[in-house]
Amino acid sequence: MGKIRVYKLAKELALSSKELIEILQDLDVDVSSHMSTIEDDTAKTVRDMFVEKENGSEKKSEIVKEEKDTDNEKQGETGNRDSQEKETTERHDISLPITVKELAESIDYPANDMIKKLMGLGLMANLNHPLDEDTLIMLADEIGVRINIKDTDHVSDEQEKEKRVGPKIVDKAADLQLRPPIITVMGHVDHGKTTLLDVIRQSRVAESEAGGITQHIGAYQVFINGKKITFIDTPGHEAFTAMRARGAQVTDITILVVAADDGVMPQTIEAINHAKAADIPIIIAINKIDKPNAQPDRVKQELTEHGLVPEDWGGDTICVPISALKEENINELLEMVLLVAEMEEIKANPNRYAEGIVIESELDKGRGPVATLLVKNGTMRIGDALLAGPVSGRVRAMIDDKGERINEAPPATPVEILGFSDVPAAGEFVEVLPDEKEARAVAEERKQALHQQDIQNESRISLEDLYEQI
Ligand code: GDP
Ligand code: MG
Repeated sequence: MGKIRVYKLAKELALSSKELIEILQDLDVDVSSHMSTIEDDTAKTVRDMFVEKENGSEKKSEIVKEEKDTDNEKQGETGNRDSQEKETTERHDISLPITVKELAESIDYPANDMIKKLMGLGLMANLNHPLDEDTLIMLADEIGVRINIKDTDHVSDEQEKEKRVGPKIVDKAADLQLRPPIITVMGHVDHGKTTLLDVIRQSRVAESEAGGITQHIGAYQVFINGKKITFIDTPGHEAFTAMRARGAQVTDITILVVAADDGVMPQTIEAINHAKAADIPIIIAINKIDKPNAQPDRVKQELTEHGLVPEDWGGDTICVPISALKEENINELLEMVLLVAEMEEIKANPNRYAEGIVIESELDKGRGPVATLLVKNGTMRIGDALLAGPVSGRVRAMIDDKGERINEAPPATPVEILGFSDVPAAGEFVEVLPDEKEARAVAEERKQALHQQDIQNESRISLEDLYEQI
């Protein structure tokens, strides 16, 4: 019988890994993190629970409660149910808009701690800072509370878009094809992220000697055993956080670099939490094993304390000992990436209008607005009409990671694009529309809506405000 990882089943059931782990623990299944694997039989049991309940038109949240009750033998009767539910799985109703202060009060959580949690998520916020839906979800996950968001007077981007450009195209399974996985490298400062990314990039450049001068765009593709892997070149958490804050998920797998002479540090933990909250599979690269004071076992011990139990210790977390500096075991690491990607079955439909995410952007003196995108679905072509938040445009030129002009960018291709009317923000979702006029009109509407919001939110965040409060 096969096995399935927690995050994968969670995705399938439209749950967070955290919710699924609660359900599994109630069923006495031993799981420690989103990377844990469970037997197919167990997965089937959980799936069946959902099919049954959904036919009976009950919500998923109820299942959690039900299982808790049936598990608890002393409970027996339904009499005590209400009070028990409150204790264990109380959900807070949250109405948008809401500020940090209002949220802190309504879930009874210290506001200062909440501000620190938000900082951990990369958001500098003061008490009066309004929280959007995505941030609320991440924050609730961090704090460990369950919330129901009621959107009162705010029309989501998604709804707005649908109104203007019609319903999003949903790909039929038959149209989907495997695409290269998109990888980010995370980890604590000085643990070797940049060195690792450089080594991977260089080995590729060496292979395709013809290239000569390599243009530095923020992502690149490498070939391993005839298969492509796309790497995002910006280590650190900034780009990732910007993308998360916009609800854009660009990464398929994250490599977490942990220095064997330093162990699990604050930004390591932060990265683990990000990956858990986003349900992104983690591969651990235990780096600097060339150092005499390297203690890979200590790293494994510390990872275990954060729910990531290494495979050779009976867990499910893939750990690869490497030396980025001495270029040791780098291929093994990349092979593991391919292995995980294969299990993930990462797919896209190349025969549709492109969708992607801005990973870098700037105003170039000679060339105007330049944005590096990762095409996540569809194929981008010269002449396509672009929409990225409040910015529109038309693809005038595309340049790949080798500095060569290309006419087509299939899924998972990093590509530099010329032709935006303005500089789109990093993390922004980009889509191709059938018509440039339409794209311009939507962008204009969004720009005006943003302008209105700016006027309303004079509670702009400043560092000074922040320091006053913590
Ligand atoms: P980052 O902050 O995570 O991007 O870390 P860097 O890649 O900048 O590396 C920090 C320092 O650690 C640099 O001096 C690197 O040369 C060094 N370093 C990186 N990888 C290794 C390694 O595998 N072994 C040793 N001995 N040093 C390394
Ligand atoms: Mg660095």
